[in-house]
Amino acid sequence: QMTNETLKAELGRSSWRLFHTILARYPETPTEYEKSTLKQYIYLFAQVYPCGDCARHFQKLLDKYPPQTINRQVASLWGCDIHNKVNDRLGKEIYDCSTILEDYDCGCGVDEELDQY
Ligand code: FAD
Repeated sequence: QMTNETLKAELGRSSWRLFHTILARYPETPTEYEKSTLKQYIYLFAQVYPCGDCARHFQKLLDKYPPQTINRQVASLWGCDIHNKVNDRLGKEIYDCSTILEDYDCGCGVDEELDQY
């Protein structure tokens, strides 16, 4: 039986992985609909995140640093920055965001890019 702290950390790692991968695959030139979809996804993610304390903290961070959905680069950097705010609060190392797009390859190739929404 894993401890609660181990489980919470596992959930965090999986969640961040999905979070950053979604942002790295967000369109380079999103439509208004795609922008709105991403924003809603992020706010709803913050509401349904299963660790209650984490969710409350993250919602406060979103109030202060709202999702930036203009394009892939900006959205991915925003995601990296907000994860760094969480890292900072938890006393973790600050991550270098300069290669964020390459760091989160979904393994799904280029041809699926057009149908993701
Ligand atoms: P993680 O922070 O899980 O990161 C996983 C990997 O992502 C790292 O190994 C690194 O390769 C990479 N990475 C690190 N920083 C960045 C970045 N800025 N951008 C891109 N990639 C990066 N835990 C708590 O105890 N209390 C909380 O309040 C809390 N709130 C959370 C809120 C959210 C929305 C999420 C998703 C998780 C939260 N967690 C919280 C979990 C916590 O953030 C970590 O996921 C967990 O502690 C495991 O940490 P880790 O050191 O393995 O790295």
